[in-house]
This record gives sequence, structure tokens and C-alpha cells, in this order.
Amino acid sequence: MRAMVLEKQQPLENDPLILKDIPTPEPKEKEIRVKIAICGACRTDLHIVEGELPPHKMPVIPGHQIVGKVEKLGKNVRKFKLNDRVGIPWLYKTCGKCTYCRAGKENLCENAMFTGYDADGGFAEYTVVSEDFAYSLPGNYTAREVAPLLCAGVIGYQALQKTGLKNQGKLGLFGFGSSAHIIIQVAIHLGLDVYVVSRTQKELDLAQSLGAQWVGRIDDDMGTKLDAGIVFAPSGELLIESLKKLDKGGIIVSAGIYTTPLPGFDYSLIYPEKCLTSIAHTTRENVLAFLKVASEFKIKTRVNEYKLKDANQALLNIKNSKISGSTILIIE
Ligand SMILES: [Zn+2]
Ligand SMILES: [Zn+2]
Repeated sequence: MRAMVLEKQQPLENDPLILKDIPTPEPKEKEIRVKIAICGACRTDLHIVEGELPPHKMPVIPGHQIVGKVEKLGKNVRKFKLNDRVGIPWLYKTCGKCTYCRAGKENLCENAMFTGYDADGGFAEYTVVSEDFAYSLPGNYTAREVAPLLCAGVIGYQALQKTGLKNQGKLGLFGFGSSAHIIIQVAIHLGLDVYVVSRTQKELDLAQSLGAQWVGRIDDDMGTKLDAGIVFAPSGELLIESLKKLDKGGIIVSAGIYTTPLPGFDYSLIYPEKCLTSIAHTTRENVLAFLKVASEFKIKTRVNEYKLKDANQALLNIKNSKISGSTILIIE
């Protein structure tokens, strides 16, 4: 099969992903082999390729927003049959035995494996996964539309849940890439007022067109204080700046897997019961909860399409904020 393989972490400018012809993986017991149609590309892939995240499996095929069809069944697969459409997100496997797994927090599993990091992912024609970590997808989306929901959507929704806001309140989104452009639609659907901060005019324009109450730069006056904020941009400075926009008792959730170091800050930024926290991955239950929300109304994902062989360019454009919305690779 054709795959974009990472053999050594290095800057995207060096084209680190190499197009190779490698053996097609065989499904083991309880695993399915998926013929991939679309794989989303996300900022986490960028951090894996460039080395902000330490190497795990190497060489590795990145990609963790996989949409395809079941093409081969391992022994004792019960949940899926041939030709079923499935999605594979970031969480690839958990141990089921550690304290976190037993407490229903498998996102924090001590022995978790992640797609496209600990196991080969979706920048390829085929991949294998346990049937327990693959998902049926809502029928109201094409493969192109649904792929970005599998990480950008799922993580954004989990961050939104973590803010505690239900159906009213002022929510800030800091950075407006793939995840934010999905989650603004969910937040507005729920009844929240959304305030969007970005450095990029293209992103602010998109936010406005999707119904943001206010858009602007971090130094601009919002004219109000936020109940909660989600920070998507991988910037420690922005995390601290976002605290200044919060009302007393508010919460900032960092949705990223990586951020630059946080500068020192004055205690008053968190003192009136403000909270700064993060979300780390998601459980299978979280994925199912978001897919249910996505099935209830149509989230309009804006996608930028690339061919598999152009995966380096796709990630480079995310790095340089050249695109707005989500990025996908067309595999078939
Ligand atoms: Zn575990
Ligand atoms: Zn991701």
C-alpha cells in the first residue's frame, strides 16, 4: 500500500514524510482492516512530525481522523461487517486495567496508545484497529465532511463540556482553526454567545460568518467579561492573556496537546476563583457523545483538500496559518 511515512522528526520545510510502498497490515483477532477514503490532518500531526512531541513508534504513519470502509475482518469481530463505514480517532487502545481506566477516565490511561503516534495511522491506503476503538459515523455527513469531526470536533466538544457552560453564557475561543470553526457551531446551536480572538484576518472573517458575537485581536476590548474560554492556539502567552478576559469564577480550558511555556503571571489573574485547566485526549464515551450531537444537526465543516502525497504541504500550511477551517487528505 502507499503511505506517507515519518522516519525522522524534522521541520516540515524538509519534507519529512516520505511516500512509500509498504506491506498492507493484516488485522489480528478482534481487529478490522479499513480501506481509507479520507484522513484529516491536525496540529497534533504537525507536533509529531516536527518533534514538539517526543517520538514514540518510529517509523510511523501519522493521521488520526480516519474515515473508510471495513475491508477485512480479523477473527471474532462482532461489531462490524465488511463494507461498513467507520471512523478511527486519536484514542487507539487503552489497557482497561489501570486506575484511570477502572475509574472511567480512560483518556488518562497509563498505557494508552494513540493513532498515528503509537500505532500507524491514516496517511495511508489501509490501517488496522480493534473493533472496540472504531465508530459508526452519522449518516448525514460525507466522508470529507465527517473526517475533521473525529479529532477537531471531538476535542473541541470535550473542551466545551469542561467549561461547564450549558445553554447560556459568554464563551471565548482563542485561535480559530479546525477545532474552533466546528465548535463555534455547536456552541451557538446550544445558545451560547461566542467571542473569537485570532491573529489572522481570514480566521476572524470565518468566525464572523459562522455567527460569532464579537471577533478581534487579543489586545482589543471585548466590552465584556467571559464566563469561559477555550484556547486552541499552542501559545503559553495566549493562555495567560486569555485569563485577563475572564469574569470572576471563570474557566479557561486549553485544548492543545502542546503549548509553548507559560510566562510568569500575577496571582490576581487566577485569584477571584478563576480556573486554568486542560483536556487530555478523550474517552470512547466522549467520542460517542459528540457523534450523537453531530447527528442531531448539520455541522458545516470547511475543508481544504490535499492528495496523500502532498501531506507535507498540508501540514506546512497548517503550521503557517495559510488555511482556514480543516485540512483533509484524499486517499482514494
Ligand atoms: Zn488504562
Ligand atoms: Zn488531532
